[in-house]
Amino acid sequence: MSAYWAERAWLGADTGVVTGVVVEVDADRFGAITPGVARPPAGAVRLAGLTLPGLANAHSHAFHRALRGRTHAGKGTFWTWRERMYDLAGRLDPDALHAVARATFAEMALAGVTCVGEFHYLHHGPGGVRYAEPNETGYRLVAAAAEAGIRITLLDTVFLASTVDGAPLEGPQLRFGDGDLDGWAGRLAGLRLPAHARAGAAAHSVRAVPADALADLAEWAGLSGPAEGPPVHVHLSEQRAENDACLKRYGRTPTQVLDEAGLTGPRVTAVHATHLTDDDRTALGDSDTRVCLCPTTERDLADGIGPARALADAGSALCVGSDSHAVIDLFEEARAVELDERLRDEHRGHFDASELLDAATAAGHAALGWPDAGVIAPGARADLVTVRLDSVRTAGFDESAPLPAVVFAATAADVTHVVVDGRVVVRDGRHLLVEDVPRALADSIAAAWARS
Ligand SMILES: [Zn+2]
Repeated sequence: MSAYWAERAWLGADTGVVTGVVVEVDADRFGAITPGVARPPAGAVRLAGLTLPGLANAHSHAFHRALRGRTHAGKGTFWTWRERMYDLAGRLDPDALHAVARATFAEMALAGVTCVGEFHYLHHGPGGVRYAEPNETGYRLVAAAAEAGIRITLLDTVFLASTVDGAPLEGPQLRFGDGDLDGWAGRLAGLRLPAHARAGAAAHSVRAVPADALADLAEWAGLSGPAEGPPVHVHLSEQRAENDACLKRYGRTPTQVLDEAGLTGPRVTAVHATHLTDDDRTALGDSDTRVCLCPTTERDLADGIGPARALADAGSALCVGSDSHAVIDLFEEARAVELDERLRDEHRGHFDASELLDAATAAGHAALGWPDAGVIAPGARADLVTVRLDSVRTAGFDESAPLPAVVFAATAADVTHVVVDGRVVVRDGRHLLVEDVPRALADSIAAAWARS
């Protein structure tokens, strides 16, 4: 049993921020949570600033971190960016992927991320040649998360075609494919994961998975059955070109194709959901399908602005992810959900700070299949993230309402302490498991690009 004394802690949207909170931790779970204690009890670790539940990064492709700052020359679109990403994907072997992922997950831990949803499609060797261990790269990602001290949901991704018309995979895409859904499911059946990891499934998109295979995936996941089961994620309508091709092929929007395939529901998370019709939003909301917004990637790739408020009003729970890791900062992702709406309709106040923080904590963990995380409450997983309130960004905050200062002005650099499943991973802004995170990033990224 250990104990913390948080100067201030956010105990969820209903309770809000309370002061002098004693947080007891028993192994990997919270024990009693006692607010209103004026001074740290003997033996309790003092957490200055504002302490939050663990942040969930609900959408990640770890190796994309190696693209940061390297895709901004000249003009272009999502599709020209994708050429650069494929160039990188073609170079990585398991060791290089492992090293980049370890450093990237360590960067996430420093930013307060306690769980990542890794949308994983780089399965096989060059040309699609299988590794001796068919889940080699998945295991490397799981190991990388352990080394960085965070939990992972490995969203193993079905990727079968290069276009919505079902054209075969080519070039670097050959590494992503398992031939058909049975091939994918057979490989996944051999996956054995340790306690910090969970398996989920993903369909890359309607571009990469034909409608009949989407229906087979929905059946594999038991989406028409009980609420329990693996989470299923899918990229949805990130680009107008995807919608146009899908309408041409099926006479349906991508959302309609997913809905008719049964690939909707509370265990399903649609990633991006940027370009939707009114009927699409209704279908997602009515089926309780979740939506993961990735605003820093969506602006980086000139994707567009997702209809966040309308989706939430329709019934979709929102979460956030850093996706391509143009930056890794969940405060920036969360506030962008509100600030992008302001740019679109010239009004303020679509989401308050606690709604945005819920997306980055409890809702994100639920979307990744960890419903017992993302809250500071007895019995929940003992994740804590402490944000300083005396930095140049946060100093001068309103004592009566500190949450907006954090959600609208703090950055990942303001995170001082991170506890994951009861274990201290970051102390005083320093990662305790990866000694020099910037060096790990620099070395692993240089090594990845040096490969041919
Ligand atoms: Zn993505």
